Amino acid sequence: MKSICCESGGIGRRAGLRIQSRKGSGFESPLSHFAGKPAVVATVASAVLPDAIGLRLLCGAIVLLLASVAAPASAAAAADELARQVSAQKAACAAEVENLAAWCESKGLTTEARKTRSLLPPQDPYKLFVPVLPAEPEPGPPADAPPEVHQWHKRLAKLRQEQSLAMWDLARKAVRARRTWLGYELLLESLRINPDLEPARRVLGYQKIRNGWYTPYQARKLRAGQVWDDRFGWIPKGATARYEQGWRLVGGRWLSPEEAQKPRTIESGWDIETEHYLIRTNCGIDQGVALGVKLEQLCSVWQLLFIGYYASEADVAALFEGRGRSAERPRMRVVYFADRQQYNQALRTAIPKIDMTIGLYLDTTRSAYFFAAPDGDDRTLYHEATHQLFHESRPVVRDVGRRANFWIIEGIALYMESLRREGNYYVLGGVDDLRFHAAQYRLLNDRFYVPLEEITVWGMEKIQQHEKIGVLYSQFAGLTYFLIHGEEGRYRDALAAYLTAVYSGRDDPNTLAQLTGASYAELDKQYRQFIAAAASKAATVQDDKPPKRPTDTAKLR
Ligand SMILES: [Zn+2]
Repeated sequence: MKSICCESGGIGRRAGLRIQSRKGSGFESPLSHFAGKPAVVATVASAVLPDAIGLRLLCGAIVLLLASVAAPASAAAAADELARQVSAQKAACAAEVENLAAWCESKGLTTEARKTRSLLPPQDPYKLFVPVLPAEPEPGPPADAPPEVHQWHKRLAKLRQEQSLAMWDLARKAVRARRTWLGYELLLESLRINPDLEPARRVLGYQKIRNGWYTPYQARKLRAGQVWDDRFGWIPKGATARYEQGWRLVGGRWLSPEEAQKPRTIESGWDIETEHYLIRTNCGIDQGVALGVKLEQLCSVWQLLFIGYYASEADVAALFEGRGRSAERPRMRVVYFADRQQYNQALRTAIPKIDMTIGLYLDTTRSAYFFAAPDGDDRTLYHEATHQLFHESRPVVRDVGRRANFWIIEGIALYMESLRREGNYYVLGGVDDLRFHAAQYRLLNDRFYVPLEEITVWGMEKIQQHEKIGVLYSQFAGLTYFLIHGEEGRYRDALAAYLTAVYSGRDDPNTLAQLTGASYAELDKQYRQFIAAAASKAATVQDDKPPKRPTDTAKLR
């Protein structure tokens, strides 16, 4: 792969937003970028969208070298040694933190003791935690604080520096050992301990401006005299009060509150630009901005977890050695309708069963479609936007998953539905997430399970026509949870390589077994054990209430 999107790999950053009037943007119609001319949505839809569910038009071919199947004994020994060093380093860091916290308590500094202990990492093997990185460092204690507080702050800074460097060294070791997922996990851990750690920030594409860390996109905004506002996105410095009164700057012209709120058709809707997305909407501008913020959060987490999907090992190694090259990709397109009726009307010609969908991604137009719903949640948004990320972050084959291995395309989108913010982390997974709960219930209560040997043979049509499609989807979610959280995370790199193989059309029914180095019978057995252990943990979490019958939901897309 020539380019990698390390520039945008940052997390916890703000979504950059630019609002344009439709006329000035050159964005003719949400569906027209394949047709190449402006047109009314419904008309264009019939011309450029597929006429049946399941058509996938994609471009390009890529070369993929599947990872070697059986690791030699020396590689296995090196992996064990790395695991031992990581666990020793984590223990050493925890001991240092506890030591400083105890010192604080001995001096009566209870707030400082609590702040110190907040450096301990969250523990839950069924969740992935991605820290939200602050743009700027926390300010130190005020000048008139007691001397002990200053002493504590100095000791804390030293601890952060030393421990983050030790973690960063291990991250580089992991990447050199071709353990990409672990490398990024350790890199994030180093930044969680010390958000100011320069080499780690640089891997994620940040640059330092004054006291803070910004992506190149954010840096351009700041240089252009804009500031971030969580409600309005990037706005001109000094314009906050006017925005609060309802005025909106669109295409260089101020719109009055009345004008800004006038109902619009999707064709004359707003175009909202974020760092990675171009959103056409006829909801309010603020709703479009809020959607953009969520999409950017998903994108930032996804880019960190799946670097092994869209970048080669050589690219990742170059990044960690400071030789990476940034590349910006075209923005991903999203259409956000004001209500279901307009969504149905615009897409019915292309998707006759549009009433059964609550959002979708069409690879034929490379656009995701959503509508504002009073009872809507973010799961559909994250699901479809995940399909879009996998489709548009590297060249992919036409008809992905049509011949075999379709289950993982849905499985990974079902997993990403669980994204949410918990404190200072973006979190995925969890024993009580509804998809994972459904997987546990179907296996343990209903004894429903289709072995991997069978499922990996199935293509898209076989699955979409299956009479138990809903229950199958719950199993797909469970299997994906297993590949990420099972066996202490040892299948994570194999999962990324599996997704690359499937999306590039270099897969066959045996690919997953080859990449994991385990037979399907073995994986089935490990899955059952994983589910049983998760269910017993979930029962503890839920205070031994009997498991609730889940609702299995399949997606047409
Ligand atoms: Zn889907």
